[in-house]
Amino acid sequence: MRQALPKIQWRRSRRARRLKLALCPWRGIELVLPPGVSEAQGQAFLDSRRDWMEAAWGRIRRKVPEAFQENAPESLLLAAIGRRYDLQYRPLGDRLEQRGNVLLVPGPATQSNARCRIKPWLIAQGREILPQWVARVGERTGLAHQRVQVRDQRTRWGSCSARGTISLNFRILFHEARVVDYLILHELCHTRHMNHGPQFRALVARFEPQWQSLDRQLSQAAGGVPGWIGW
Ligand SMILES: [Zn+2]
Repeated sequence: MRQALPKIQWRRSRRARRLKLALCPWRGIELVLPPGVSEAQGQAFLDSRRDWMEAAWGRIRRKVPEAFQENAPESLLLAAIGRRYDLQYRPLGDRLEQRGNVLLVPGPATQSNARCRIKPWLIAQGREILPQWVARVGERTGLAHQRVQVRDQRTRWGSCSARGTISLNFRILFHEARVVDYLILHELCHTRHMNHGPQFRALVARFEPQWQSLDRQLSQAAGGVPGWIGW
């Protein structure tokens, strides 16, 4: 039985001395052509190495199964800002690129690759979007803060330090805008009351009468965070 091979990428190299095949579980198979070698010679070389490639690729699949997981995500919905992105995978790319609503993800179409490539992009998105969001809620309510941090927190959506630093989990981008509003309001109210006592609750309720149902939405485990992003 012929084994499926990934599409073979061709690359010319001025430094290569001879035709070479590079196999990488994450990047796929690459054929490197030295100067002066024709495409026909390259193709003949590939044909002659077909059996070897299939055997070698099969060994790689068994050795590094995490590079071949299926069900890689095809899109990403950031409910907070009402934007959906299509994910396209490029085996030989080097860095994640955004073109409008398309994210070009370098590496194989697997969940683990998607997570490790897209998480830093999401944190960067959060750093662009959330500090302004906190500033807007601060203006509306008159609640002041010092600064905003956006991080990859394991266990919570947000926190507020005694010095007025608000930390937000980038995963809040997967929640609806109203829930994000509430989380930010909640943390800003902690600049006045560092607890969840009656005065704190009264302050939150003054700006958001529906806060209890929003709080429940927020504490529902995953909160729209896709499983492949994880916690
Ligand atoms: Zn709190």
